[in-house]
Amino acid sequence: MRRLVLEAPYTMKMTEAPIPVPDPQQVRIKVHKIGVCGSDPTIYKGLHPYVTFPVVLGHEISGTIDAVGENVSKNRIGQRVTIIPHQVCGHCDPCKHEIYNFCEELKCTGAEADGACCDYFCIDSKMALEMPDTMSMEMGALVEPACVAYHGAKRGQIQRTDKVLIIGAGPIGMFCMQSCFALGAKEVYMADMDAARLKLAKSLGVTGVIDVSKEDLISGLTRLVGTEKNIDVFYDCVGEKGSVLNNILSVAKRGSRVVVIGVLQKEYVIPLLPDFVQHELTLSGTTMYVPQDYREMIELMGTGVIRIDGMVSHHFSLEELPNVLDMIVNRREKTFKVVINVAGE
Ligand SMILES: [Zn+2]
Ligand SMILES: [Zn+2]
Repeated sequence: MRRLVLEAPYTMKMTEAPIPVPDPQQVRIKVHKIGVCGSDPTIYKGLHPYVTFPVVLGHEISGTIDAVGENVSKNRIGQRVTIIPHQVCGHCDPCKHEIYNFCEELKCTGAEADGACCDYFCIDSKMALEMPDTMSMEMGALVEPACVAYHGAKRGQIQRTDKVLIIGAGPIGMFCMQSCFALGAKEVYMADMDAARLKLAKSLGVTGVIDVSKEDLISGLTRLVGTEKNIDVFYDCVGEKGSVLNNILSVAKRGSRVVVIGVLQKEYVIPLLPDFVQHELTLSGTTMYVPQDYREMIELMGTGVIRIDGMVSHHFSLEELPNVLDMIVNRREKTFKVVINVAGE
């Protein structure tokens, strides 16, 4: 079978490998689609702190179970599945409660452990979740980023009366917006500097948008909700050096909640951080997701509550992935969500 190996930064090679045999508790997946994540170019460039080379990328995965280990029911063969890309110890306290994102021995598939950029891929059977027929393989590949956003959205403790502002209208922001509505938020607004992304947000049901390339946050919020201090929950879907979090702190009313989903870089600068104490803000972090998020997301996508319409900007074959990563790293073309078709379709 084909197996695309990242041998060193910027060096990806297609290799031929034997089709793997599932361990007793594993299932084997015939891989259909893989989503390209924002973290993949970081790994490609050799800048991911936990990745060692060689490594196989691919953690946003959908496919069909084509073989099972001896301890797994044969009834699972043929199931269309989406994958929780976690390899865990299985016996620590968090693992016993299915809080795999807190397992001290957690290895993420496609980063610390080899991912699914290959034709067949084995994983623990409990990490392969069946999808309803209403979900396409493309949706299946996007359950992972959707769950990053959904888990983060839950950290904001959304109430029915809440007005929400999300900064950063990338794929995570787009899923975060839809998740906030699914969790019952009254109004959800988004801010970004890219008009095309804000247009997509409108087509996916956002209440209103602020194009920060044309209007500052304070005027935008005053226009949309009457005053700049009228938002209950904020989501920072950018992270980076902290300027978005700092902007949020500048408009956060007393007692409001702030969730940081985007990854903050080490050299962050957040001069207004002390305000979070004085204004009694709740500041929450979030990391990945738990299986319950996956089960709920499969239900939400399967019933059309959370949609991916317009989100996939590009499709490529597995052979094209090295060029695609080069294209993203060198910003040769604007992409939103890129999906790799590993098997036909
Ligand atoms: Zn991802
Ligand atoms: Zn564990």
